[in-house]
Amino acid sequence: MADRFFPNEMPDYIPETHSASASASADSLTRLLHLPLKTLSDRLNTDALAIKDTVVKESWLGLGKRVRDFSLYTGAMGIAFLLFKAYQVTGDKTDLALSSRIIQACQAASRGSRRVTFICGEAGVCALGAVVAHHTGDENLCQHYISQFKEIKLPPDLPDELLYGRAGFLWACSFLNKHVGPNTVSSTRTRAVVDEIIRSGRQMGKENCPLMYQWHEKRYWGAAHGIAGIMNALMDVELKPDEAEDVKGTLRYMIKHRFPSGNYPSSEGNETDKLIHWCHGAPGVALTMVKAAKVFQGEEFLQAAIDAGDVVWNRGLLKRVGICHGISGNAYVFLSLYQLTGKPEYLYRAKAFACFLHDRAQTLMSEGIMHKGDRPYSLFEGIGGMASLFLDMTEPSQAKFPAYEL
Ligand SMILES: [Zn+2]
Repeated sequence: MADRFFPNEMPDYIPETHSASASASADSLTRLLHLPLKTLSDRLNTDALAIKDTVVKESWLGLGKRVRDFSLYTGAMGIAFLLFKAYQVTGDKTDLALSSRIIQACQAASRGSRRVTFICGEAGVCALGAVVAHHTGDENLCQHYISQFKEIKLPPDLPDELLYGRAGFLWACSFLNKHVGPNTVSSTRTRAVVDEIIRSGRQMGKENCPLMYQWHEKRYWGAAHGIAGIMNALMDVELKPDEAEDVKGTLRYMIKHRFPSGNYPSSEGNETDKLIHWCHGAPGVALTMVKAAKVFQGEEFLQAAIDAGDVVWNRGLLKRVGICHGISGNAYVFLSLYQLTGKPEYLYRAKAFACFLHDRAQTLMSEGIMHKGDRPYSLFEGIGGMASLFLDMTEPSQAKFPAYEL
């Protein structure tokens, strides 16, 4: 089990007031851990912008500006997302313009795709397209994307999970309503999707777990394909009281049946306690519990989020860099806990994971000790995700896990 992650030998906490006190003889990682946030985030920002340029060079220019994979997960929309995030941090309109051009290419490539979600489908292209157009001031283009979004039809046999299913479409609706304006997608449309998700979950639910779902014949628990991701999308929209109770009941079931270690099974009945990923395991569940603590104000969800965060600190220094199943994604758990609790210990933990990546990831990858990801430049599996994290360290109180936290 230990070979999936590096033992976390970093100090549990270094207060910001003790920053800049590491001795000159300390190793480079220790010196980074002692840097004040502003100094560190400036360095991370420089690193992020260099990575962003590499991602553009390798995955856009290097492919002749052609889109083979349009998804946010491993493809061109991930580059557009990263460019948009860079623009939000630096105000560099060149990045905004390139993001817009890439999204237009993605729209052509996604036409006719049966994928409908934010992360893997057409909804992501139209939703991010509309938001980026809104920022460029091109309201005609913004309206074009919104009208294309409204044309998306959900096949009746669609699963419910986040990457390919209804929850992933619902999240795109919430993203548009937050970033373009309330009711950009009507409540009639979102309500119809919520009704379907609730109906489907109740069919498979049981007395102590009101909502349950299946994808590829497995009852997944995690953020990417399972109940954590579906509950997360539901909590972004207005629920009826009985639906909210079912969401709470389902989350309580997960807390009650988590592993003794505090980690969460990847699927119902799976007793292998090994995955500490956003997609499967404690990190994705932690983000969902943070959301639940905010929406339902429940102490039990706050405690569950804190417990899951401890698992991520102890076992989440993965031998991969991305946000789906890598250190970058796991660092977002601490940013989310920091935003919820205001405790500087969580900001430190996010800094620590970011410092580890900044100090060591490129070397460890070149030595083959860390895995580069199957799509090494992508947002979810590769260094694109690391750049996203580094950019988010500029304003930790505003950081959001891409395509998961609104
Ligand atoms: Zn993953």
